[in-house]
Formats: sequence, structure tokens, C-alpha cells
Amino acid sequence: MGSVVWFEDLGKSDTGVAGGKGANLGEMVKIGVPVPPGFVVTAQAYERFLKKAGIVEKINDTLSEINVNDSKALNEAAEKVRDLIKGSKMPEDIKEDLVDAYRKLSDKSGDDEELVAIRSSATAEDLPDASFAGQQETYLNIQGEEDVVQNVQKCWASLFTARAIFYREEHGFEHEKVSISIIVQKMVNANKAGVLFTSHPSTGERDKIVIEANWGLGETVVSGSVTPDVYVVDKDSGEILDVTVGSKEVMRVRNPKTGETMEQPTPSDKREAQTLNAEEARKLAEFGRKVEDHYGRPQDIEWAEEDGEIYLVQTRAVTVLYGEEEEEAEAEAAPSEVLVKGLGASPGTSSGKVRIIPSANEIGRVEEGDILVTEMTHPDWVPAMRRAAAIVTDEGGRTCHAAIVSRELGTPCIVGTGNAAQVLEDGADVTVDGTSGVVYKGIAKVEKPEEEKAPAAAPVIPTATEVKVNISLPEIAEKVARETEADGVGLLRAEHMLLGIGKHPRRLIEEGGEESMVEEFYKGIRRVAKAFSPNKVWYRTLDLKTAEFRNLEGGEDEPVEPNPMIGWRGVRRFVDPEWPREQEVLKLELQAIKKVVDEGLLNLGVMIPMAHHPEELRRFKQVAQEVGLEPGEDIQVGIMVEIPAAALIIDEFIKEGIDFVSLGTNDLTQFTLAIDRDNERIAKLFDERHSAVQALIRRVIEKCNEAGVESSICGQAGSYPDVAEKLVRYGITSISANADAVQAVREMVHRTERRILLSNARKPKE
Ligand code: PEP
Ligand code: MG
Repeated sequence: MGSVVWFEDLGKSDTGVAGGKGANLGEMVKIGVPVPPGFVVTAQAYERFLKKAGIVEKINDTLSEINVNDSKALNEAAEKVRDLIKGSKMPEDIKEDLVDAYRKLSDKSGDDEELVAIRSSATAEDLPDASFAGQQETYLNIQGEEDVVQNVQKCWASLFTARAIFYREEHGFEHEKVSISIIVQKMVNANKAGVLFTSHPSTGERDKIVIEANWGLGETVVSGSVTPDVYVVDKDSGEILDVTVGSKEVMRVRNPKTGETMEQPTPSDKREAQTLNAEEARKLAEFGRKVEDHYGRPQDIEWAEEDGEIYLVQTRAVTVLYGEEEEEAEAEAAPSEVLVKGLGASPGTSSGKVRIIPSANEIGRVEEGDILVTEMTHPDWVPAMRRAAAIVTDEGGRTCHAAIVSRELGTPCIVGTGNAAQVLEDGADVTVDGTSGVVYKGIAKVEKPEEEKAPAAAPVIPTATEVKVNISLPEIAEKVARETEADGVGLLRAEHMLLGIGKHPRRLIEEGGEESMVEEFYKGIRRVAKAFSPNKVWYRTLDLKTAEFRNLEGGEDEPVEPNPMIGWRGVRRFVDPEWPREQEVLKLELQAIKKVVDEGLLNLGVMIPMAHHPEELRRFKQVAQEVGLEPGEDIQVGIMVEIPAAALIIDEFIKEGIDFVSLGTNDLTQFTLAIDRDNERIAKLFDERHSAVQALIRRVIEKCNEAGVESSICGQAGSYPDVAEKLVRYGITSISANADAVQAVREMVHRTERRILLSNARKPKE
């Protein structure tokens, strides 16, 4: 083998020659996806260079003497070794092979001297691409034989940066056993470019491919500095489902001679035109599918088009399982064995031991760091969910209990696997990828580069539409307030406060424990109200289903209903004159609120779940007055719009008197489409974007605006940026998202508001 191997001659078994990254590029060519052409200077060429230059011993001597914890000495030694490498002459035969290959590459594209990127791909004897990512250099826009040779040598030297030496010493890798190959690859001077996600980036839908495109180089799309064209393509059929032409304000172009890039306004005809034709969109989607199939997980791909050729310039897993840096992900070997798949419900990756938990009595078996696997979690499982490193359920969609609580806890979660509790073995080591919804066999190594710092908090962008947050666990209110800087709480769920008590409210009342319930709720509500004061906090009264109440101590007498989802739940249960005892429970909740209000915390609102008739609202207000809370004065009162009936007769609720409404799209979607939100078999049909659901949402917002009533959303749909965009356009007053989505939603709200303002400003004056 010569010193140089072209990508098309490489495959996954060539890591010893080309490193992980080089072998991977070969694989991509093999599976038929176009990557910018190029070649690899082999690891063996590097080793031969060292020998011929006679510097092996000198390097070893220099490195053997240093104490890596003495950073000055380390830096000096590193520089000495690099100088040795850069100062040595490249053997003629290697140089010839390299120059020859560079000429061929230039000929291929018809250029005299092609602009290339030169990057390293490190290898270790037993560990083909063992976590050396990001430790070596990349040189861009290199042109001309001399510069290519020089930069290859510079890249070799980068195997001995202080950081790389330190890393190898710390991890017990012998310096001599680590080698390096160099990738020389054409730089694409794109006419159009962008990104491609092989699953929907905001909804996580696995059956859709989303392509974003702009004219010129891809940086404008990658950095989000323009609104690109967006193509949604069906992954299986290749059918283009939706095209949105973005405003594509600017584009970036490169001077092919100097390699320098500059931004310029996009000409208006280009702004109005679609960047991709249907064939290109389909082709890209097809490439995306191939890459995803190859890696077995969703990919985030950068692509570019030049002279009619489409190239994939980079691919990385949507969630990085084995490493944190993109180059590492790019070079990643195939993931380990897939055990179970489901819906990614809370993002992130965790490894640990499986604990199969068939019922609430066994939640004590879940230890810190375990993977909780069950049919479905329930409100009384939260203590165990808190200890779990990840949660996997057989049942449920993205709005089920496990999904909601996991997102709030920041714990990776997969729901709707169908059979995880049967397939996974209790005690087995697994890795859960909550983003892509896959459970892998074994413990994945997540190497954090030692220099990694906590990401800087993004500055809060001001928005006219308020961006709030949903909370179920009062004890994390301060943390959520601090981290999200949300404009208030659009949904404070009550259900988990019952856990502090651990008993069915009925049992509590029978035992004379009313005070303890008031106290527990008071503490929870006050904590959240204080953490977000003076911003508003909307508390929603209890909405447990009978089946969930039954799980609590003393809940044995709960009726067994044929359909708890459409049964005795929400406000209907607590204001029914036929069941006066139930009102006692509601009164305890309201007394807790009154206690908070009496302390002078005046930022509270109360909303009633599952309202479907104004009569319920009237009765609710009566109960509030009975405990001494004057609706509209002491507290704001609102309704959740979760039933199509409420959306259709929203005027009647407004007439009855409300301060606000909040769209509970989890239930609203379920009841509009007749799709049980907890049934994983039909989860794929659960669609908040369905035009019927959207029509109801729009109607409610518009009616509220006419009447001067605040409108908000607290269902999961509010956490999807593309839905948030629509809501802003409908004129919603606020959006309440999950803690992990607040920032993305805020950015989208900001962008949409700006676009609305701009397009209004640009309208010709009458
Ligand atoms: C909803 O239905 O959208 C909602 C927010 O309430 P929950 O998910 O608690 O039913
Ligand atoms: Mg609901």
C-alpha cells in the first residue's frame, strides 16, 4: 500500500490505516452517499516518516521525562516534539504520493489547485478511535502542493499538543502506540447548502426527514442566522409533505481563490424562490435515510451542493452516545446492540442497571442510578423516578405521566416501547438514549473532554408573548426559575403534592388530617409562587383519574370505571352537587391557596381542568367564595381548554367570567382526534398539528383576544417551536413550555414576532 488511500478504497475495517474518521468516510462512499472527494495519508506513512526522520527516540526521551501535571514543563516538551516533527523532512516517496494525489483531486474538479481541508484522524493499536476527538488540528482552505505538504506535517505534529499528551498519560495510552492518519478533502464551494435531520428536530417524529436550505455556504443555516427554506419529507415514501419558503435574508459566499467567505444580502428573486427542487429534496432525503440506516440512529447532517453535485459534508448522531464532541460523533463506530425501541420522551443519555418494577409496592428496589423499567409510572412513583438515571415504559405517548415528569426532572425517558418490561433483563447493564428512543446493550462510555466547561447560559431574549414554564414538582421551582428565567408558571400541576401526603384525600379527611393536606399544598404552592414572584403562577386543581387515586393509600374504594380517561376526573368530580364530599377536597386545595394569598403573594391564578360547561365554572367560583377567595380579586380564575366542547362554546365561558384560558392540548388532541394519549399503539396518530386541533386552538385564541381574556397553552404542543410559531401568529398571550424547551420556544417566539413586525412594516402604505 502506498502512503495514500482514496476514500473509495477504505472501509470500516481500515481504522488501523485511516483512523476512525477516515474509515468512516470510506463507509459513506460504500453505502452510496456522496462525500466531498479526498484521500487519507495513512498511519503507516506517518510511522515511516518518524523512523526515516530518526526522531522516534528523541520524542520518547522528551516525553518520558515530563511530569504532566507541571503545565509549563508539559507545554515546553509538547512544543519541542512538535518542532521535531515539523522540522523534519518528509520522505520523498510519501511526498510524491501526496502531491500526486492532490493533483488528481484538483484534476477531478477541473481546478488548477483545489482548495482542501486537512484534518487528522488518530488511531490507537487496540482502540481504533479511542476518544482522541478534538485533540488534533484541522486546517481549512489549503491550496497548492507546498502548503498541502506543510499542513499534513503540521497535522502530524498536532498529535503532540499538550492536551493530547496529558490525555494519553491520564488514560494510560502509550504514546508510541498512538498513530495518526491525515484526511485531505475537497472544500465544497456551495451554491446552496444547509442541514438535514433524519428525524423531526422539534417533534422527534422518526418518520419525517426535515431539510433546511439556503443559497450559498451552509453556515447561515447552521448558525441560524437566516430563516431557511424548510422541506418535510416522508422517510419511507420520499414524498415531500410540506415546503415552507423562508425569508433567507442573507447568504454567505466564498472567494474560491483566497478561501475567504463573506456575507451578502440575498437577491430578492432568490429569496422568493425555493432553494431545492423536488428531485434534490428527495435525493437528499434518500441520502439521509441511508446514513441513518447505516448508523442505526437519527442523524444531523450538513450538506452542500456545488455544480449540480450534492455532498454530505458532515454527519453526527442527534444525541452523542459515546462522546461529546462532534468530530467524535462523526467518526463514531456502529452503536452497540439495540435491545428495545420506543418514543424518545425526555432527551439525554444514561447508563445503568435495569430495574423492572411491576407495581408501586416495588418502587423501593430502584436505587440511585438505576434504569426504571415498567408498564407505566404513576404519581406516587415520583420518589423512585427521582433516583432513576433513566426511565423506560411499555405504554404511553409523549404526554403520559412518565414523559411529563421525566422532562421536568431532566431524566432521559423512553415511552411506548411495547415490551421493554418483558424484553429487558432485571439487573442487566443498558444505555438509554432518550432522544432517539433506543435502549442499547451495555454501558456506553461518555468521555467528557477535560477542558469542557459548563455551557454559558444563553441571554434571555425579550419577547412580547410571554414564555412561561410548566411545573409539577414544587421542590425544583427555584432551580427551574433560575435556569429558565421564565415569565411565570403557566401550569402548576397539583397531583404530585398529594405525594408528600401519600394518602387518598378521602382517607385523610376520615382520619381528621385535613390540616396536613392544606399544609402540604400550601407549602408547595407558596414555594412556586415565591420562586416566580412577581410573575404569575397558575395552579391547576387536582386532575387525577380514578385509577390514579386508587393507587394511593386508602384509595381502594375508588370506582372502577370502564374509561377513566373520560370518566370521573377534573373539575366535574369536585363540583357535582350529587357528590358533596368531593367538594371538601377542592375546598382544602382552595384553603391552601388562600393561605398563600393571605401572606401577600398576589401572583396566583387558579384554573380548572377538563371544563366542558359554564355551570362547572359557576360552581367552582361558589366554592372559592365559600373559603373566602373572591374570584377576579384575590385570585385570577381560568379554565383549561381540553375538551372540544369548551373550545366551541368558549364565548359562554367568557360570558360567565374568566380571566384567562389555558389550552391543554394533550387532552384536547386526544378528545378531538379520539386518540387515547396513553395508548402507544396509536401514538403515531397523536398529532397536535392536525388541522382540526389547530382550528379549535385558533378559535379560542381569537375569541379571547376579542374579549380581552388572556390566552395561553400548557399542553406539550407549546414546547414544539413550530407550533409556538403558529400560536404567536394566532395572537396567543403566553406559551407555557416544559423547562427543557423554554429557551428554544423563546427563540422561536422572538423570531416570529420580529418577522411579523418586519412584514407589517414592509406592507405598502394604503
Ligand atoms: C393537557 O391536557 O394538555 C394538560 C396540560 O394537562 P395534563 O397533561 O396534566 O392532562
Ligand atoms: Mg389535561
